[in-house]
Amino acid sequence: MSTDWGTHLAHRAARIQPSLRLDLDPLLTDPGTIYLGGGTPPVECLPIDRLAEAARQVWAELDPATLYYDETPGHRPLRELIAARMRRRGAEVDPDNILITAGAQQGIDLVARLLLNPGDRVVIEEPGYFGGFQVFDHYEAQYLTVPVDDEGIVPEALARALDTSPRPKFIYTVATFQNPTGVTGSPARRREILALAREFGVPVVEDDPYGELWFERDPGPLRALDPDVIYIGTFSKTLAPALRMGWVAAPQELMRLLIDAKEAVDIQSDRMMQRTVVQVCADGWLDAHLDQARAVYRARWEAVRAALERAMPPGVRWTEPEGGYFFWVTLPDGIDTSALLPECAAAGVVYLPGSLFYPDMRPSASLRIGFSTLPPEDLTLGIERLGQVFHGALAG
Ligand code: PMP
Repeated sequence: MSTDWGTHLAHRAARIQPSLRLDLDPLLTDPGTIYLGGGTPPVECLPIDRLAEAARQVWAELDPATLYYDETPGHRPLRELIAARMRRRGAEVDPDNILITAGAQQGIDLVARLLLNPGDRVVIEEPGYFGGFQVFDHYEAQYLTVPVDDEGIVPEALARALDTSPRPKFIYTVATFQNPTGVTGSPARRREILALAREFGVPVVEDDPYGELWFERDPGPLRALDPDVIYIGTFSKTLAPALRMGWVAAPQELMRLLIDAKEAVDIQSDRMMQRTVVQVCADGWLDAHLDQARAVYRARWEAVRAALERAMPPGVRWTEPEGGYFFWVTLPDGIDTSALLPECAAAGVVYLPGSLFYPDMRPSASLRIGFSTLPPEDLTLGIERLGQVFHGALAG
């Protein structure tokens, strides 16, 4: 008799959603289809030669001791490099307060692991990053959702969410060039959010993969305004996602627990890859690389903005991101962008429908357009195709 695994699963496993929670593959079989769902650096922005050369050098000069277990918090020079970069962005961080993780995703997981009991409440942005919800689902969290407007979390809604009993355990926010809306709060809005968090005694967890990808100016992280913010960073967008190199910068009281949690999960992050990243970033190389990448993203962002202006029917609105990878486009109430997706795919364009970014997957009149992965002409064509379908849908 084969095992009935259903009776063996932990409670948390019963809540697990399938990855991405939407299978787009059947919509992407035609090679001419333009996929606006991407959220990674394009091949042109991957520093392939530099990485290969750095890795070669790291292996050539390797001390055999590096091939053993050690350095659970991470390679010291990498933590120093990250701390220096964060300080330059206004966040006073010590290398001892940095833990190297397997990407930002593991950072979210380790923080949730330390802070959440089953049934605890977490304040999340709506719409928000579904990868965060996936983690919190595993810890059997309940959600208090706060809407995001053109400046991020709406303070009045946050105050209502915080003024509840039992108090939520933390606020999870992508405060800069948010995924999925692309929005960033003004300094005044940010201070308001942090003041509310302090007033109600609820910590802020800032997930910041896109913060360094600004076009005109660096808005800086929330962590620059408040040393109690738990900050999560990553090299996935600035170098490459496959490196799985991220970090958590946390207040001193949490560091030992975070390091112990990391050890329990995977002992340490890849020691050779940490050295490779240090080597790649040496001599200001990362800054020069980011300048080039920003120019690529900016040209793509301009193409999307111009195409949206031209192609969208009246009644369609979109956010004005000042960096990052995403526009959030909203059709009039009553339209469900999941339902429109097959028609758009038939017209040769696929996007991520808004419902993916709500924990209850409710129908949404919005969609996310990622502009990082495609050249301007493809983005323009994709948005023109979208415009045609939307004109029809709004006329009908
Ligand atoms: N947080 C957010 C907001 C993201 O957009 C992403 C990447 N899609 C991640 C975390 C995961 O990043 P990493 O590759 O560093 O785990």
